[in-house]
Amino acid sequence: MRKKKALFQSLPRRLVLWYRKHHRKLPWRETNDPYKVWISEVMLQQTTVPAVIPYYKKWLKLFPDVKSLSRAPLQKVLKAWQGLGYYQRAKNLHLAARAICHKFRGKIPSDYGELKNLPGFGPYTAAAVASFAFNKPYPVVDANVRRVLMRLMGLRSEAGAKNDKALLRFLEPFLPLKKMGIFNQAMMELGSQVCRPKNPLCLLCPVREFCRAFKEGTQEIIPFPKKRAYRKVEAVVGIIQRK
Ligand code: SF4
Repeated sequence: MRKKKALFQSLPRRLVLWYRKHHRKLPWRETNDPYKVWISEVMLQQTTVPAVIPYYKKWLKLFPDVKSLSRAPLQKVLKAWQGLGYYQRAKNLHLAARAICHKFRGKIPSDYGELKNLPGFGPYTAAAVASFAFNKPYPVVDANVRRVLMRLMGLRSEAGAKNDKALLRFLEPFLPLKKMGIFNQAMMELGSQVCRPKNPLCLLCPVREFCRAFKEGTQEIIPFPKKRAYRKVEAVVGIIQRK
């Protein structure tokens, strides 16, 4: 039992070492400026990394900080967002920038609760900003992290947020509370680059030793695909044929 505990305690260390050596060098990873972390996290929702890079760079030229974003007219903000889709994200960035200037004198708060109440934030973005920028002890759970955790646990269940509480309980004893920013980023990078949805690269995985799915050979089937929600509709259909 003690041996098992010691083994699991080395999980975060191995993960962080792997991340330091192998992570992709992306512009938003070179900083812990909360504004830049926030902008990149919002852009990366629903959008791929290669698509985000040019937008991120252009955005920072147009709006280098919270104050410049809050002062910009909404039309200018939406124009800078053009092509990224889901325009509500841009509107919320603008609203949140104004709220930060109004309530916090332009300084992004480090408190998870205060972050979560800002327009467009929610638990994911609040945990990302709190941990990446301020090293606060909040785990970030996105689709990539969910998949890694489900496989580590060998949890035979569907993808999606319904298992999040169980995943967080599993994760809790390993959390390196002083290195949460890098730990969260390492989990996300592992899910995106190694523990991929299809064909996970288990032989390159730094935490293979702890992985139940790998031991049981279930890594390709966890998580199960989501069942489609069907609704029964009774209807009469007619076909009109011309000529
Ligand atoms: Fe994912 Fe394979 Fe690593 Fe397990 S061993 S965490 S399935 S990449």
